[in-house]
Amino acid sequence: MLTADPQFRDSAVKAVHHRFRIVGAGPTGALLALGLAQQGFSVVLHDRLSAELLLNRSRAYAITHSSRRLLLDLDLWPALLDQMEPFRALRLDDCSAHCTTWFQLRDLRPANRTSEAIGWILDHRPLMRLLLERLQASDLVELQLDDALPAEDVLANAGSREWIVAADGPRSTLRRCAEVPFWTHAYQQGCLTVKLRLTGADQHCAYELFRPEGPMAVLPLGEDRYQVVWSAPLQRCRDRAASSTSELLSALDAILPDGVNAVQLLDDPGAFPLELSLAPRLHRGALLLVGEAGHRCHPVGGQGLNLCWRDVSDLLNLTQAMGHGEIAFTSLARRYSRCRRFDLAGVLLSTDLLIRFFSNHNPLLMPFRRLALFLLKRISWIRRFSLSAMTDGPGTLLRPLPK
Ligand SMILES: Cc1cc2nc3c(=O)[nH]c(=O)nc-3n(C[C@H](O)[C@H](O)[C@H](O)COP(=O)(O)OP(=O)(O)OC[C@H]3O[C@@H](n4cnc5c(N)ncnc54)[C@H](O)[C@@H]3O)c2cc1C
Repeated sequence: MLTADPQFRDSAVKAVHHRFRIVGAGPTGALLALGLAQQGFSVVLHDRLSAELLLNRSRAYAITHSSRRLLLDLDLWPALLDQMEPFRALRLDDCSAHCTTWFQLRDLRPANRTSEAIGWILDHRPLMRLLLERLQASDLVELQLDDALPAEDVLANAGSREWIVAADGPRSTLRRCAEVPFWTHAYQQGCLTVKLRLTGADQHCAYELFRPEGPMAVLPLGEDRYQVVWSAPLQRCRDRAASSTSELLSALDAILPDGVNAVQLLDDPGAFPLELSLAPRLHRGALLLVGEAGHRCHPVGGQGLNLCWRDVSDLLNLTQAMGHGEIAFTSLARRYSRCRRFDLAGVLLSTDLLIRFFSNHNPLLMPFRRLALFLLKRISWIRRFSLSAMTDGPGTLLRPLPK
Protein backbone atom coordinates (compact mmCIF):
# COMPACT_ATOMS: atom_id res chain seq x y z
CA MET A 1 0.00 0.00 0.00
CA LEU A 2 2.76 2.38 0.90
CA THR A 3 4.97 1.56 -2.04
CA ALA A 4 2.96 -0.16 -4.72
CA ASP A 5 1.12 2.96 -5.87
CA PRO A 6 2.47 3.73 -9.39
CA GLN A 7 1.10 7.28 -9.26
CA PHE A 8 3.16 7.85 -6.16
CA ARG A 9 6.27 6.41 -7.78
CA ASP A 10 5.80 9.03 -10.55
CA SER A 11 5.72 11.75 -7.96
CA ALA A 12 8.94 10.47 -6.38
CA VAL A 13 10.90 13.18 -8.20
CA LYS A 14 8.98 15.72 -6.15
CA ALA A 15 9.73 13.80 -2.97
CA VAL A 16 13.50 13.90 -3.59
CA HIS A 17 13.43 17.63 -2.82
CA HIS A 18 12.48 16.86 0.78
CA ARG A 19 15.13 15.35 2.96
CA PHE A 20 14.87 13.40 6.19
CA ARG A 21 17.78 13.20 8.60
CA ILE A 22 17.11 10.33 11.00
CA VAL A 23 19.18 9.94 14.16
CA GLY A 24 19.07 6.37 15.47
CA ALA A 25 19.27 3.25 13.27
CA GLY A 26 17.54 0.89 15.70
CA PRO A 27 14.56 -1.11 14.44
CA THR A 28 12.39 2.04 14.30
CA GLY A 29 14.79 4.48 12.61
CA ALA A 30 16.02 1.86 10.14
CA LEU A 31 12.49 0.83 9.11
CA LEU A 32 11.39 4.44 8.70
CA ALA A 33 14.47 5.23 6.58
CA LEU A 34 13.65 2.31 4.30
CA GLY A 35 9.99 3.30 3.96
CA LEU A 36 10.88 6.93 3.16
CA ALA A 37 13.46 5.87 0.57
CA GLN A 38 10.88 3.56 -1.05
CA GLN A 39 8.61 6.59 -1.35
CA GLY A 40 11.40 8.48 -3.14
CA PHE A 41 12.62 10.70 -0.29
CA SER A 42 16.29 11.28 0.30
CA VAL A 43 17.34 10.06 3.75
CA VAL A 44 20.46 10.41 5.88
CA LEU A 45 20.51 7.82 8.68
CA HIS A 46 22.93 8.21 11.61
CA ASP A 47 23.82 5.94 14.47
CA ARG A 48 26.59 6.16 16.99
CA LEU A 49 26.99 2.36 16.78
CA SER A 50 28.72 0.44 13.99
CA ALA A 51 26.72 -2.03 11.87
CA GLU A 52 28.18 -4.93 13.88
CA LEU A 53 27.09 -3.41 17.19
CA LEU A 54 23.63 -2.60 15.79
CA LEU A 55 23.18 -6.31 15.06
CA ASN A 56 24.48 -7.40 18.44
CA ARG A 57 21.46 -7.18 20.70
CA SER A 58 20.23 -10.38 22.31
CA ARG A 59 16.50 -9.68 22.18
CA ALA A 60 13.46 -11.15 20.51
CA TYR A 61 10.36 -9.16 19.60
CA ALA A 62 6.74 -10.29 19.63
CA ILE A 63 5.43 -9.17 16.23
CA THR A 64 1.74 -8.36 15.95
CA HIS A 65 -0.56 -8.08 12.93
CA SER A 66 -0.15 -4.30 12.68
CA SER A 67 3.60 -4.87 12.22
CA ARG A 68 2.94 -7.68 9.73
CA ARG A 69 0.98 -5.27 7.55
CA LEU A 70 3.76 -2.67 7.60
CA LEU A 71 6.45 -5.26 6.82
CA LEU A 72 4.30 -6.52 3.92
CA ASP A 73 3.89 -2.99 2.56
CA LEU A 74 7.65 -2.48 2.68
CA ASP A 75 8.27 -5.84 0.99
CA LEU A 76 10.19 -7.21 4.00
CA TRP A 77 7.69 -9.81 5.15
CA PRO A 78 8.59 -12.63 2.67
CA ALA A 79 12.30 -12.35 3.56
CA LEU A 80 11.55 -12.44 7.30
CA LEU A 81 8.94 -15.17 7.33
CA ASP A 82 11.51 -17.98 7.50
CA GLN A 83 13.26 -16.27 10.41
CA MET A 84 10.15 -15.95 12.58
CA GLU A 85 8.43 -18.35 14.89
CA PRO A 86 4.63 -18.13 14.66
CA PHE A 87 2.49 -18.78 17.72
CA ARG A 88 -1.09 -19.99 17.29
CA ALA A 89 -2.20 -19.74 20.89
CA LEU A 90 -1.66 -17.31 23.73
CA ARG A 91 -2.10 -18.62 27.26
CA LEU A 92 -2.90 -16.15 30.03
CA ASP A 93 -2.48 -17.24 33.64
CA ASP A 94 -3.40 -15.27 36.74
CA CYS A 95 -1.17 -17.14 39.18
CA SER A 96 -2.73 -15.58 42.32
CA ALA A 97 -6.36 -16.01 41.30
CA HIS A 98 -5.56 -19.46 39.83
CA CYS A 99 -7.34 -18.76 36.54
CA THR A 100 -6.20 -19.58 33.02
CA THR A 101 -7.60 -18.43 29.73
CA TRP A 102 -6.54 -18.94 26.11
CA PHE A 103 -6.60 -16.89 22.94
CA GLN A 104 -6.79 -18.98 19.77
CA LEU A 105 -6.69 -18.24 16.03
CA ARG A 106 -10.49 -18.07 15.92
CA ASP A 107 -10.33 -15.05 18.27
CA LEU A 108 -8.56 -12.98 15.59
CA ARG A 109 -10.54 -10.68 13.33
CA PRO A 110 -11.34 -12.50 10.04
CA ALA A 111 -8.88 -10.31 8.07
CA ASN A 112 -6.02 -11.52 10.27
CA ARG A 113 -6.98 -15.20 10.42
CA THR A 114 -5.58 -16.08 6.98
CA SER A 115 -2.01 -15.70 8.24
CA GLU A 116 -2.54 -18.63 10.63
CA ALA A 117 -0.82 -17.05 13.61
CA ILE A 118 -1.77 -14.84 16.53
CA GLY A 119 1.73 -13.36 16.37
CA TRP A 120 5.36 -14.14 15.57
CA ILE A 121 8.59 -14.03 17.51
CA LEU A 122 11.45 -12.41 15.62
CA ASP A 123 15.02 -12.23 16.77
CA HIS A 124 16.76 -8.83 16.63
CA ARG A 125 19.75 -9.97 14.53
CA PRO A 126 18.01 -11.26 11.35
CA LEU A 127 15.68 -8.25 11.44
CA MET A 128 18.52 -5.73 11.65
CA ARG A 129 20.63 -7.65 9.11
CA LEU A 130 17.84 -7.44 6.53
CA LEU A 131 17.13 -3.77 7.26
CA LEU A 132 20.80 -2.81 6.94
CA GLU A 133 21.18 -4.82 3.71
CA ARG A 134 18.17 -3.10 2.14
CA LEU A 135 19.35 0.33 3.34
CA GLN A 136 22.82 -0.23 1.90
CA ALA A 137 21.27 -1.22 -1.43
CA SER A 138 19.19 1.97 -1.68
CA ASP A 139 20.50 4.91 -3.72
CA LEU A 140 18.46 7.34 -1.67
CA VAL A 141 19.85 6.40 1.75
CA GLU A 142 23.12 7.73 3.09
CA LEU A 143 24.15 5.54 6.04
CA GLN A 144 26.39 7.22 8.59
CA LEU A 145 27.12 4.59 11.23
CA ASP A 146 29.67 4.58 14.04
CA ASP A 147 29.29 8.35 14.13
CA ALA A 148 27.94 10.28 17.15
CA LEU A 149 26.72 13.67 16.01
CA PRO A 150 26.17 16.39 18.63
CA ALA A 151 22.40 16.96 18.84
CA GLU A 152 22.89 20.76 18.87
CA ASP A 153 24.65 20.59 15.47
CA VAL A 154 21.91 18.42 13.96
CA LEU A 155 19.22 20.86 15.06
CA ALA A 156 21.17 23.99 14.17
CA ASN A 157 22.14 22.82 10.67
CA ALA A 158 18.72 21.55 9.51
CA GLY A 159 17.99 22.64 5.93
CA SER A 160 14.80 24.47 4.96
CA ARG A 161 13.15 21.41 3.31
CA GLU A 162 14.57 18.98 5.83
CA TRP A 163 12.88 17.05 8.62
CA ILE A 164 14.95 15.87 11.57
CA VAL A 165 13.73 12.61 13.05
CA ALA A 166 14.71 11.56 16.56
CA ALA A 167 14.67 7.74 16.55
CA ASP A 168 17.46 7.65 19.11
CA GLY A 169 15.62 5.64 21.75
CA PRO A 170 14.33 6.36 25.24
CA ARG A 171 17.26 8.58 26.29
CA SER A 172 16.96 10.68 23.12
CA THR A 173 19.51 13.51 23.18
CA LEU A 174 17.71 15.26 20.32
CA ARG A 175 14.46 15.35 22.30
CA ARG A 176 16.24 16.74 25.35
CA CYS A 177 18.26 19.24 23.35
CA ALA A 178 15.10 20.56 21.63
CA GLU A 179 13.41 20.68 25.06
CA VAL A 180 10.35 18.77 23.88
CA PRO A 181 8.00 18.32 26.87
CA PHE A 182 8.18 14.73 28.11
CA TRP A 183 6.35 12.90 30.91
CA THR A 184 8.00 9.95 32.52
CA HIS A 185 7.26 7.59 35.39
CA ALA A 186 9.78 4.94 36.51
CA TYR A 187 8.14 1.64 37.44
CA GLN A 188 9.33 -0.07 40.59
CA GLN A 189 9.35 -3.15 38.44
CA GLY A 190 12.26 -3.90 36.18
CA CYS A 191 12.59 -6.88 33.89
CA LEU A 192 14.99 -9.72 33.41
CA THR A 193 15.40 -11.12 29.91
CA VAL A 194 17.06 -14.39 29.04
CA LYS A 195 16.93 -16.99 26.28
CA LEU A 196 16.72 -20.59 27.40
CA ARG A 197 15.73 -24.15 26.58
CA LEU A 198 12.49 -25.51 28.03
CA THR A 199 10.99 -28.96 28.12
CA GLY A 200 7.25 -29.58 28.21
CA ALA A 201 6.21 -26.24 26.67
CA ASP A 202 3.98 -26.00 23.61
CA GLN A 203 6.19 -24.82 20.75
CA HIS A 204 3.34 -22.89 19.09
CA CYS A 205 2.11 -21.12 22.20
CA ALA A 206 3.18 -17.86 23.88
CA TYR A 207 2.60 -17.58 27.62
CA GLU A 208 1.83 -14.52 29.76
CA LEU A 209 1.83 -15.28 33.48
CA PHE A 210 0.51 -12.60 35.83
CA ARG A 211 2.37 -12.94 39.11
CA PRO A 212 2.19 -10.69 42.20
CA GLU A 213 5.73 -9.39 41.60
CA GLY A 214 5.00 -8.65 37.91
CA PRO A 215 4.10 -10.39 34.63
CA MET A 216 6.29 -12.95 32.92
CA ALA A 217 6.21 -13.62 29.17
CA VAL A 218 7.53 -16.86 27.69
CA LEU A 219 7.97 -16.50 23.93
CA PRO A 220 8.74 -19.39 21.54
CA LEU A 221 11.89 -19.00 19.42
CA GLY A 222 11.67 -22.35 17.62
CA GLU A 223 12.07 -25.99 18.73
CA ASP A 224 12.72 -25.92 22.48
CA ARG A 225 14.18 -22.39 22.60
CA TYR A 226 12.29 -19.58 24.36
CA GLN A 227 12.79 -15.99 25.44
CA VAL A 228 11.66 -15.08 28.93
CA VAL A 229 10.77 -11.50 29.89
CA TRP A 230 10.35 -11.65 33.66
CA SER A 231 9.15 -8.53 35.49
CA ALA A 232 9.74 -8.06 39.22
CA PRO A 233 11.13 -5.34 41.51
CA LEU A 234 14.25 -4.05 39.76
CA GLN A 235 16.73 -5.06 42.48
CA ARG A 236 15.32 -8.60 42.49
CA CYS A 237 15.82 -8.75 38.69
CA ARG A 238 19.42 -7.63 39.13
CA ASP A 239 20.03 -10.21 41.88
CA ARG A 240 18.53 -12.95 39.74
CA ALA A 241 20.59 -11.90 36.72
CA ALA A 242 23.73 -12.06 38.89
CA SER A 243 22.85 -15.43 40.46
CA SER A 244 24.41 -18.71 39.31
CA THR A 245 22.95 -20.57 36.34
CA SER A 246 21.58 -23.36 38.52
CA GLU A 247 19.93 -20.88 40.93
CA LEU A 248 18.28 -19.04 38.06
CA LEU A 249 17.07 -22.26 36.43
CA SER A 250 15.57 -23.44 39.74
CA ALA A 251 13.89 -20.07 40.32
CA LEU A 252 12.36 -20.31 36.83
CA ASP A 253 11.32 -23.92 37.34
CA ALA A 254 9.43 -22.93 40.47
CA ILE A 255 7.15 -20.52 38.62
CA LEU A 256 6.76 -21.89 35.08
CA PRO A 257 3.41 -23.59 34.36
CA ASP A 258 3.09 -27.19 35.57
CA GLY A 259 4.99 -29.63 33.37
CA VAL A 260 7.27 -26.93 31.88
CA ASN A 261 10.92 -27.04 32.99
CA ALA A 262 13.90 -24.79 32.36
CA VAL A 263 16.90 -26.88 31.35
CA GLN A 264 19.59 -24.59 29.93
CA LEU A 265 20.35 -20.88 29.56
CA LEU A 266 21.26 -19.80 26.02
CA ASP A 267 22.57 -16.30 26.73
CA ASP A 268 23.52 -14.09 29.65
CA PRO A 269 20.51 -12.77 31.55
CA GLY A 270 20.10 -8.98 31.57
CA ALA A 271 18.14 -6.77 34.00
CA PHE A 272 16.56 -3.52 32.78
CA PRO A 273 14.61 -0.67 34.42
CA LEU A 274 11.10 -0.08 33.07
CA GLU A 275 9.24 3.14 32.59
CA LEU A 276 6.10 4.68 31.24
CA SER A 277 6.81 7.80 29.25
CA LEU A 278 5.22 9.99 26.64
CA ALA A 279 5.92 13.19 24.78
CA PRO A 280 2.42 14.72 24.59
CA ARG A 281 3.40 16.26 21.25
CA LEU A 282 5.67 14.26 18.98
CA HIS A 283 7.14 17.29 17.27
CA ARG A 284 8.75 20.62 17.80
CA GLY A 285 9.53 22.75 14.75
CA ALA A 286 11.16 20.45 12.19
CA LEU A 287 11.90 17.76 14.76
CA LEU A 288 9.74 14.60 14.81
CA LEU A 289 9.93 11.99 17.57
CA VAL A 290 9.51 8.40 16.44
CA GLY A 291 9.60 5.16 18.45
CA GLU A 292 10.95 5.08 21.97
CA ALA A 293 12.30 8.61 21.63
CA GLY A 294 8.65 9.66 22.00
CA HIS A 295 7.11 7.03 24.26
CA ARG A 296 7.79 3.91 26.23
CA CYS A 297 5.57 1.32 27.89
CA HIS A 298 5.84 -1.73 30.10
CA PRO A 299 6.74 -4.86 28.06
CA VAL A 300 3.55 -6.68 29.21
CA GLY A 301 1.80 -7.97 26.10
CA GLY A 302 4.90 -7.37 23.90
CA GLN A 303 3.58 -4.02 22.67
CA GLY A 304 6.81 -1.92 22.60
CA LEU A 305 8.24 -2.34 19.14
CA ASN A 306 4.82 -2.73 17.53
CA LEU A 307 3.76 0.63 18.92
CA CYS A 308 6.98 2.18 17.58
CA TRP A 309 6.29 0.69 14.15
CA ARG A 310 2.76 2.08 14.14
CA ASP A 311 4.44 5.53 14.46
CA VAL A 312 6.40 4.58 11.34
CA SER A 313 3.30 3.37 9.53
CA ASP A 314 1.26 6.50 10.30
CA LEU A 315 4.16 8.80 9.44
CA LEU A 316 4.70 7.00 6.11
CA ASN A 317 1.02 7.41 5.25
CA LEU A 318 1.40 11.14 5.86
CA THR A 319 4.65 11.50 3.92
CA GLN A 320 3.01 9.64 1.05
CA ALA A 321 0.14 12.15 1.12
CA MET A 322 2.73 14.96 1.27
CA GLY A 323 4.48 13.45 -1.80
CA HIS A 324 1.12 13.53 -3.62
CA GLY A 325 0.69 17.17 -2.63
CA GLU A 326 -2.41 16.25 -0.58
CA ILE A 327 -1.03 17.77 2.59
CA ALA A 328 1.30 20.72 3.01
CA PHE A 329 4.93 20.26 4.03
CA THR A 330 4.32 22.54 7.00
CA SER A 331 1.40 20.55 8.39
CA LEU A 332 3.14 17.14 8.42
CA ALA A 333 4.44 17.36 12.00
CA ARG A 334 1.17 18.58 13.50
CA ARG A 335 -0.85 15.91 11.71
CA TYR A 336 1.61 13.21 12.76
CA SER A 337 1.38 14.17 16.45
CA ARG A 338 -2.39 14.31 16.27
CA CYS A 339 -2.93 10.99 14.52
CA ARG A 340 -0.70 9.09 16.98
CA ARG A 341 -2.49 10.39 20.09
CA PHE A 342 -5.25 7.80 20.52
CA ASP A 343 -3.12 4.73 19.85
CA LEU A 344 -0.32 5.87 22.18
CA ALA A 345 -2.66 6.86 24.99
CA GLY A 346 -4.61 3.60 24.60
CA VAL A 347 -1.56 1.33 24.78
CA LEU A 348 0.22 3.24 27.54
CA LEU A 349 -2.92 3.36 29.65
CA SER A 350 -3.94 -0.26 29.12
CA THR A 351 -0.47 -1.70 29.81
CA ASP A 352 -0.25 0.43 32.96
CA LEU A 353 -3.71 -0.69 34.13
CA LEU A 354 -2.80 -4.34 33.54
CA ILE A 355 0.24 -3.93 35.77
CA ARG A 356 -1.72 -2.20 38.52
CA PHE A 357 -4.57 -4.70 38.38
CA PHE A 358 -2.58 -7.92 38.26
CA SER A 359 0.79 -7.26 39.97
CA ASN A 360 -0.40 -7.69 43.53
CA HIS A 361 -2.00 -10.03 46.02
CA ASN A 362 -4.75 -7.59 46.99
CA PRO A 363 -7.70 -9.72 48.25
CA LEU A 364 -10.15 -6.91 47.37
CA LEU A 365 -9.17 -7.14 43.71
CA MET A 366 -9.25 -10.94 43.53
CA PRO A 367 -13.01 -11.31 42.77
CA PHE A 368 -12.74 -8.71 39.98
CA ARG A 369 -9.72 -10.47 38.52
CA ARG A 370 -11.53 -13.81 38.57
CA LEU A 371 -14.56 -12.20 36.97
CA ALA A 372 -12.46 -10.54 34.25
CA LEU A 373 -10.77 -13.81 33.33
CA PHE A 374 -14.05 -15.73 33.56
CA LEU A 375 -15.68 -13.30 31.10
CA LEU A 376 -12.66 -13.48 28.83
CA LYS A 377 -12.85 -17.26 28.87
CA ARG A 378 -16.59 -17.52 28.29
CA ILE A 379 -17.48 -14.64 25.97
CA SER A 380 -15.91 -14.80 22.54
CA TRP A 381 -16.53 -11.17 21.52
CA ILE A 382 -14.64 -9.97 24.63
CA ARG A 383 -11.71 -12.17 23.60
CA ARG A 384 -11.90 -10.88 20.02
CA PHE A 385 -12.07 -7.27 21.20
CA SER A 386 -9.08 -7.69 23.56
CA LEU A 387 -6.96 -9.56 21.02
CA SER A 388 -7.72 -7.01 18.34
CA ALA A 389 -6.67 -4.16 20.64
CA MET A 390 -3.42 -6.02 21.35
CA THR A 391 -2.57 -7.00 17.80
CA ASP A 392 -3.93 -4.14 15.68
CA GLY A 393 -3.77 -1.36 18.23
CA PRO A 394 -6.68 0.23 20.09
CA GLY A 395 -7.21 2.71 17.20
CA THR A 396 -8.48 0.01 14.86
CA LEU A 397 -11.34 -0.86 17.22
CA LEU A 398 -13.02 2.28 15.93
CA ARG A 399 -12.41 1.73 12.22
CA PRO A 400 -12.04 -1.18 9.78
CA LEU A 401 -8.60 -2.71 9.34
CA PRO A 402 -6.54 -1.42 6.43
CA LYS A 403 -6.46 -3.97 3.57
C1 LIG B 1 13.84 -5.94 28.24
C2 LIG B 1 13.00 -5.50 27.09
C3 LIG B 1 12.20 -6.42 26.43
C4 LIG B 1 11.45 -6.03 25.35
N1 LIG B 1 10.65 -6.93 24.72
C5 LIG B 1 9.89 -6.54 23.66
C6 LIG B 1 9.01 -7.44 22.97
O1 LIG B 1 8.88 -8.61 23.30
N2 LIG B 1 8.30 -6.98 21.91
C7 LIG B 1 8.39 -5.69 21.51
O2 LIG B 1 7.72 -5.31 20.56
N3 LIG B 1 9.21 -4.80 22.14
C8 LIG B 1 9.96 -5.19 23.20
N4 LIG B 1 10.77 -4.31 23.84
C9 LIG B 1 10.81 -2.93 23.37
C10 LIG B 1 11.73 -2.78 22.17
O3 LIG B 1 13.03 -3.26 22.46
C11 LIG B 1 11.80 -1.32 21.83
O4 LIG B 1 10.48 -0.91 21.60
C12 LIG B 1 12.62 -1.06 20.57
O5 LIG B 1 13.96 -1.41 20.74
C13 LIG B 1 12.53 0.44 20.26
O6 LIG B 1 13.22 0.68 19.09
P1 LIG B 1 13.81 2.11 18.77
O7 LIG B 1 14.45 1.96 17.43
O8 LIG B 1 12.77 3.17 18.97
O9 LIG B 1 14.91 2.40 19.89
P2 LIG B 1 16.27 1.65 20.13
O10 LIG B 1 16.16 0.23 19.79
O11 LIG B 1 16.69 2.03 21.52
O12 LIG B 1 17.28 2.32 19.07
C14 LIG B 1 17.81 3.62 19.24
C15 LIG B 1 19.06 3.76 18.39
O13 LIG B 1 19.51 5.10 18.49
C16 LIG B 1 20.92 5.10 18.61
N5 LIG B 1 21.31 6.34 19.29
C17 LIG B 1 21.01 6.71 20.55
N6 LIG B 1 21.53 7.94 20.80
C18 LIG B 1 22.16 8.33 19.67
C19 LIG B 1 22.90 9.49 19.30
N7 LIG B 1 23.07 10.52 20.15
N8 LIG B 1 23.42 9.57 18.06
C20 LIG B 1 23.24 8.54 17.17
N9 LIG B 1 22.57 7.41 17.47
C21 LIG B 1 22.02 7.30 18.69
C22 LIG B 1 21.22 3.85 19.41
O14 LIG B 1 22.55 3.42 19.19
C23 LIG B 1 20.21 2.86 18.86
O15 LIG B 1 20.71 2.14 17.77
C24 LIG B 1 11.51 -4.67 24.93
C25 LIG B 1 12.33 -3.76 25.60
C26 LIG B 1 13.05 -4.16 26.69
C27 LIG B 1 13.93 -3.16 27.43
